[in-house]
Amino acid sequence: MGKEYNELNKRFQTLISKKESFEEGKEILLELRKNMYDMLMLVKKGFNPTGFSLMPFKNSNGYESKTMAYSIYHIIRIEDIVCHTLIKNDEQVFEKNDYQKRLGIDIKSTGNELNKEEVGLFSKKINLSELYNYLNDVYSESNKMIKELKFDDLKKKISPMKKDYLLNSSYVSNNESAVWLIDYWCNKNVLGLLKMPFSRHWIMHVDAFLKIKNKLIQNAKKETKNKISVCGFSCNHCFLSMWCGSCRSEYNCCSYGTLFESNVCPNVKCAKEKGYEGCYDCPNLDSCEVGFYKKDNEDGISAKTNAMFIRQYGKKNLVLALDEMHKHFDYKKMQEMVAQNKLEILVKYMKEANKE
Ligand code: SF4
Ligand code: SF4
Ligand code: SF4
Repeated sequence: MGKEYNELNKRFQTLISKKESFEEGKEILLELRKNMYDMLMLVKKGFNPTGFSLMPFKNSNGYESKTMAYSIYHIIRIEDIVCHTLIKNDEQVFEKNDYQKRLGIDIKSTGNELNKEEVGLFSKKINLSELYNYLNDVYSESNKMIKELKFDDLKKKISPMKKDYLLNSSYVSNNESAVWLIDYWCNKNVLGLLKMPFSRHWIMHVDAFLKIKNKLIQNAKKETKNKISVCGFSCNHCFLSMWCGSCRSEYNCCSYGTLFESNVCPNVKCAKEKGYEGCYDCPNLDSCEVGFYKKDNEDGISAKTNAMFIRQYGKKNLVLALDEMHKHFDYKKMQEMVAQNKLEILVKYMKEANKE
């Protein structure tokens, strides 16, 4: 992901500064921003809200030492200030739409001045759905500004009055960890500001955001002893494994599970209510059409086949069979093959594995 963002960023930087490729450069910048924005939206859709305020890299010195909520806030708060106060010379989205109140936070600043403990408290306090509303508003306003930019605007310098204005505002803290931003911005022209913060600043903090998310998921996976999902999939043989901490954890990101409240799919709910570890323990498995097992769902057929296999041969043999299959096929293909060939294919690979 980071590589893809860096490639687009390089192309944008090369194209934007030449008159003949300026419009194309803007398109690439908008594409880069859209990719990162879509990623932030995708994570929100399926991720446990509690995770947004956790700091799994608290002891590191990089951007990942913060939280997911802080990463988003910091990206857009800076962009809002730069877009409206420095470039457009109009009112920030934060003020216009009363975001301090809506977010439920005590600061108006970029957050650079907050120490780790304060970042943690800030992230617990911030209203997550309003944070995403703020993201949407800032993102679309900035995109509008970018679309309207003319090539000659790139050379425009920031007025020295803006420096005094910011020094006397609460938008940038006078703490040494933050106040440098004012000189940094005010010494740039519009072209320099487009490069930072409208592109590279996003890349750095979206990267940190994803590192934090992935770490929380990996931690959840480690803590989940049973690596077989409730419907019968093996989490260790799942193409969503990097994204999902298991439907037995707080970080279930199964694409089907995330369609339901708190990411609890009907099969997880039903098995839990009936007191089963998984659907493989249920006497109604063969005829069940609940949730993921609904008729004609190919992925459901594959999961149910796994569950039937477990019922007969056990979880350990399922893992052996899938390990053996994975020597020849990728996870997606394996799932398709199990859906088509049912128990037969799993039994075949179990036997091959047990021969060795
Ligand atoms: S999507 Fe399902 S099988 Fe895959 S890791 Fe998540 S819970 Fe496990
Ligand atoms: S469909 Fe349900 S039970 Fe199966 S992996 Fe997804 S969340 Fe878990
Ligand atoms: S009824 Fe269906 S969904 Fe419920 S536990 Fe049994 S097999 Fe699973």
